[in-house]
Amino acid sequence: MSANYTSRKRHLIAGNWKMNGMLQEAEQFVHDLAENPAPDHIEVALMPPFTLLHPMAELLSEKDVRLGAQSVYCELKGAFTGSISPLMLRDAGCHYVIIGHSERRDIMGEANELISKKLNVAWNNGLEPILCVGEHLEERQDGETNSVLRQQLSVLEDAAQGVALTLAYEPVWAIGTGLTATPAQVTETHAFIHEELSRLGHDCRVLYGGSVKPDNAAELMACPGVEGALVGGASLQADSFSNIVQAAASVAGA
Ligand code: PEP
Repeated sequence: MSANYTSRKRHLIAGNWKMNGMLQEAEQFVHDLAENPAPDHIEVALMPPFTLLHPMAELLSEKDVRLGAQSVYCELKGAFTGSISPLMLRDAGCHYVIIGHSERRDIMGEANELISKKLNVAWNNGLEPILCVGEHLEERQDGETNSVLRQQLSVLEDAAQGVALTLAYEPVWAIGTGLTATPAQVTETHAFIHEELSRLGHDCRVLYGGSVKPDNAAELMACPGVEGALVGGASLQADSFSNIVQAAASVAGA
């Protein structure tokens, strides 16, 4: 494992709004967020639903908050009703795209084959994937966490080294449940993920996700190998999201 991976990149706090958010709420959110700007050593990004990407790009201009999408399809254009193209995401001002979120794996049935295609289409069209990996509760209880993560990370085997990539470790049992992994579980699992990433030639930033809130953010962000957070529920209110950003800033160092 690389010894200094934690200091290579700025910490990222990314807000995944999932299927939430109307235009008026987005306007209010951006207004409120701007009252508490993030320190320079923390990067902030928001992933609203597709309908808000264009207006959010405008609202966020000159605000130093990056925009991302929650998903992408693996084709550029054509007869794919209901899908969104990487070209459209770029056109809307996206830098990031979440790929492999557990809700897409479990509810929409997305698996490694499609996830690999999505990664490639993102890289080929100038988007930085936030690739989510994480085990279910039974898998952790059965001691299978590392083998599940290794299998999910195998989508990176054929990827060119040095591609833009952020990883998010999100234990499925902690997403939207109010449960969080303990600092010991987070530290151990992030160390394993960093080792795997190094072996695969992708020594990138690794976020933690799973019920990150203002009152647990500092403890989670202080775990070795954690370089930010992917935040769901707590990113919907500007004050709780800002408090997470400030908590991360306090432990990430300048
Ligand atoms: C997520 O959706 O990626 C997530 C981590 O959600 P929550 O923070 O609500 O658990």
